[in-house]
Amino acid sequence: GSSTSSNFIQNIINEDFDTNKYGGRVHTRFPPEPNGYLHIGHAKSICLNFGLAAKNGGLCNLRFDDTNPSKEEVEYVDSIKTDVKWLGFDWDDRMYYASDYFDQLYEYAVQLIKTGQAYVCDLSAEETRDYRGTLTEPGKPSPYRDRSVEENLDLFERMKAGEFPEGARVLRAKIDMASPNLNMRDPVIYRIMKASHHRTGDKWCIYPMYDYAHPISDSIEGITHSICTLEFEDHRPLYDWTLDALKIYHPQQIEFARLNLTYTVMSKRKLRQLVEEGYVSGWDDPRMPTISGLRRRGYTPEAIRDFCEDIGVAKANSMVDIAMLEHSIREYLNSRAPRVMAVLRPLKVVIDNYPAGQVEELDAEINPENPAMGTRKVPFSREIYIEQDDFLEDPPKKFFRLSPGNEVRLKHAYIIKCERVVKDEKTGAIIELHCAYDPETRSGSGSTRKVKGTLHWVSAAHAVPAEVRLYDHLFNRENPDEEKDFKSCINTNSLETLTACLVEPGLAGAPLGSRFQFLRHGYFIVDPVDAKPGALVFNRIVSLKDSWAK
Ligand code: ATP
Ligand code: MG
Ligand code: MG
Repeated sequence: GSSTSSNFIQNIINEDFDTNKYGGRVHTRFPPEPNGYLHIGHAKSICLNFGLAAKNGGLCNLRFDDTNPSKEEVEYVDSIKTDVKWLGFDWDDRMYYASDYFDQLYEYAVQLIKTGQAYVCDLSAEETRDYRGTLTEPGKPSPYRDRSVEENLDLFERMKAGEFPEGARVLRAKIDMASPNLNMRDPVIYRIMKASHHRTGDKWCIYPMYDYAHPISDSIEGITHSICTLEFEDHRPLYDWTLDALKIYHPQQIEFARLNLTYTVMSKRKLRQLVEEGYVSGWDDPRMPTISGLRRRGYTPEAIRDFCEDIGVAKANSMVDIAMLEHSIREYLNSRAPRVMAVLRPLKVVIDNYPAGQVEELDAEINPENPAMGTRKVPFSREIYIEQDDFLEDPPKKFFRLSPGNEVRLKHAYIIKCERVVKDEKTGAIIELHCAYDPETRSGSGSTRKVKGTLHWVSAAHAVPAEVRLYDHLFNRENPDEEKDFKSCINTNSLETLTACLVEPGLAGAPLGSRFQFLRHGYFIVDPVDAKPGALVFNRIVSLKDSWAK
């Protein structure tokens, strides 16, 4: 696509082709930490990494960055694999775990000690912070900085053997305590953690830090372009230092701006809080910005990929309007989703002059944007339902829907006129309307009579009951991350459940996950989790109104 061919990472790849930097290879990786479900921000990274590999005849690995044992779970690994595949990407036989490299990472640490580039430090975490200095003040060297190689080897070995409690000692890279970059002031590269790991069990009680494990994992896998988000820009000198110190193959780290979307949050930590504290029904709640949430909401992989392509790749952080994501699924479904009639808040209408017991099977186009989809039959009879909103007893000017004495067209059917309103004697609530139809006005019969409003409807005797869930933004502020407590702006009305809806009978056997346009309402999907045979549940994917202006 146009934005990829012009993005700055593709430009770097083109230059590397020109200079033959990697022998014409392009090899990227997507490296999630399995500590939560993937979200739409990850989708951007997935599309970028797998997309650049595909467009340049290269390869992309899936690598689980599982160096932190206390937070990782098998459930997350499985969900990540499902989500990457669902988005349409394939790592073939290139699925790796950073934990596969624990032995090698250890050997490399020993090598750094032997070459005088790493040392065991006994300072407490707090002391280490104090010694590190600040942006305006240089750090002070640790009193353990000049330990001999022999002592360091012995202590590191004993750290590995479990002789010391957590926090007692760490292994640090020996770089530069006066560096203007705080990440270069002798960063910790190994720490003691007496925790079981989801893959290596209790084999290890020392674990490598991300900044140390990541460049080495990239190097082992022969990655060429190691693409990460902007907050790692300051870590790039350490990435480069590690590989240079070890004198091993050196990929290029490249940073891009992470995706932020309005009216939602994107950090896994915050998303986990929403799940664990019951604000949503789970990681796959249709209001969540997770891939599994978007899937259940009704988004398609194609729409998400189009969105990721449209937003492009930038070098500066920004906020993307969630309306742009909604636009992508509308665009995708417009020519594909069958149109159907669904009444969400039913009001009964009796057509007094229509013969009792008569049923007509009317012809209705399935999708006016795509005539090849053909037509369907919709039953019409004397008693129908329309939307409560489509009738007003006392209408304002320009109300072109139904009102006493006024005419409307019933979509695919006839023109009707409202003649009488029946109300509950006690409450005054409207119970039903009585109308007359004009038999000469059947749609498709060549009738030329025009009225201003057209309503959708369902036949009372034929309609199928359904539950419909209407969703709104999860937060009522554009940027919840700006609030002191992001949960203070949770939208408490983000889910409206309507349980008395009626849909046209053709939907009775609609498969789980099938998508439709409910005329005048929006796009809906049969909820893949809660719908059961004979019990339809629909999620509103998105309304019809597009607030995104290209
Ligand atoms: P979080 O803060 O949500 O936990 P993370 O960056 O720690 O995110 P990882 O599992 O480490 O999550 O991310 C895997 C990859 O996805 C990384 O390369 C990361 O840069 C990228 N990524 C994560 N969030 C975004 C985002 N919002 N936009 C683009 N890429 C992202
Ligand atoms: Mg991370
Ligand atoms: Mg994280």
